[in-house]
Amino acid sequence: MQYKSFLIKYAEIGVKGKNRYLFEDALVTHIRHALKRVEGEFTVTKESGRIYATAEGEYDFDETVDALQKIFGIAAICPMVQVDDNGYEDLKEQVAKYVDEVYEDKHFTFKVFARRGNKKYPVTSEQINRDLGEVILTRFPDTKVDVHNPQVLLHVEVRSRINIYSRVIPGPGGMPVGTNGKAMLLLSGGIDSPVAGYMIAKRGVKIEAVYFHAPPYTSDRAKQKVIDLAKLVSRYSGPIRLHIVNFTDIQLYIYDQCPHEELTIIMRRYMMRIAERLAKESGAMGLITGESIGQVASQTMQSLAATDAACTMPVFRPVIGFDKQEIVDVSEKIGTYETSVQPFEDCCTIFVAKHPVTKPNLKMIERSEENLKERIDELVETAVNTVEKIWC
Ligand code: ATP
Ligand code: MG
Repeated sequence: MQYKSFLIKYAEIGVKGKNRYLFEDALVTHIRHALKRVEGEFTVTKESGRIYATAEGEYDFDETVDALQKIFGIAAICPMVQVDDNGYEDLKEQVAKYVDEVYEDKHFTFKVFARRGNKKYPVTSEQINRDLGEVILTRFPDTKVDVHNPQVLLHVEVRSRINIYSRVIPGPGGMPVGTNGKAMLLLSGGIDSPVAGYMIAKRGVKIEAVYFHAPPYTSDRAKQKVIDLAKLVSRYSGPIRLHIVNFTDIQLYIYDQCPHEELTIIMRRYMMRIAERLAKESGAMGLITGESIGQVASQTMQSLAATDAACTMPVFRPVIGFDKQEIVDVSEKIGTYETSVQPFEDCCTIFVAKHPVTKPNLKMIERSEENLKERIDELVETAVNTVEKIWC
C-alpha cells in the first residue's frame, strides 16, 4: 500500500483555547519545513482540528515518517487513505480494498470505529460500524471482531472526504518549538547538555546555545564536536544559533587569582554570567544546563545554589533528577550519544582541582571573586564582544 496522506494528531496543543490556532500554525510551519528535506512534494493543510500532509507524487515513506517523528507537538502520525464520498456502497468497497492492501495476513481481530464529522451523512456512526464490520468479516473470513481489545482499530472518519486509517505511529509529543519563548543552552561536549536542550525544546522552547571554548587548552576538535552536537539537537529543535565564547583568558585569570579548590565553581559562575548576557541580547528568557544533583562536585546542592546566585534569569535543569544511565538512554534515543562520547576535552576538565570544594559557601566564593576585580570586567567584555556565532 502506497499511502498518499498522513493524518497528524496533536495532543496537548488541542487544549489551548483561543490560542490554539497559534500552536496549529506553528506546527504546520514546522511540518512544511521538515518535509522540504524529504524526497517528494507535500501539501500540508489544516482543517478543523486536523493537520494533513499529502504527497503530491512519489515520496519516501520511511524518510517522511522519520522527519515527522522529530517534530515536537505531534502525538501520532497516521498514514491514511482519503477517498471521495461516492456513496455508501463505494465506501464499503474502499474499506475492503484498504484492509486487503494493508494487511497481507488476515488473521487478526478488529473493530471499526466510525465518526461522522459530516452530520448530513445519511448513515449513523453505529450503523457504519456494523455494516463495515460485516463487509470485512464476509470478504476476509480469517478476521474476527473484538470490540474490547482489537488488534486492528479501523478508523473511518466521514468528513467532506472520508479518511480511512488503522496504523498509528507515535510522534515525539511535546509542543511546537517557538510557542513557548526562547532559552539559552549551555552546551558542552558532554552527554548531559544536549539531552537538556532536547528536553526543553520539546516543551516548545526555541533554543540558542553557548559554548565556552578555551584554546589552546581545548582543541578545535572539541569545538567541532560541540558544533556537531548542536546540529544533532537542531534536527528536533530547528536551527540553533551557537555562540562560541573564548574563555581562555578568564580561566587563566581565575586560575592565577583564586584558590584552586574553588576554580570550578567560580568558573561556572562566570559562564552563567556571560550566558545570561548573551541570552538577554538574543531575547532568551532563561538558561538551560545539563546538571543533575550530585553528579560531580560542582553539582551538589550547595554548588548549584552558588552557581544560581551568579545570575538572575531562571536556570532550567531538565535532567536534575535523572541518574546518569537515564540521561544516556535519552541521548541514545535522540542520537547524540556517539558524538558526546568522542574523547575531546572540554574546558572544565583542564582546570579542575584535585580536591574541589563540594559545599561552597557563597560568602567565601564572593570573597575570592573580589581578587578578580582589577581585570575581570574588561575580560568579560572582551569575551562577549568577540563571540563567534554559527548557525547549526
Ligand atoms: P555535560 O555532559 O553536559 O558536559 P557534565 O556532566 O560534564 O555535563 P559539567 O562539566 O559539570 O557536567 O557541566 C555542567 C553543565 O554546565 C553542562 O551540562 C553544561 O550545561 C554546562 N557546561 C559545562 N562546561 C561547559 C562549556 N565548556 N560550555 C558550555 N557549557 C558548559
Ligand atoms: Mg562536561
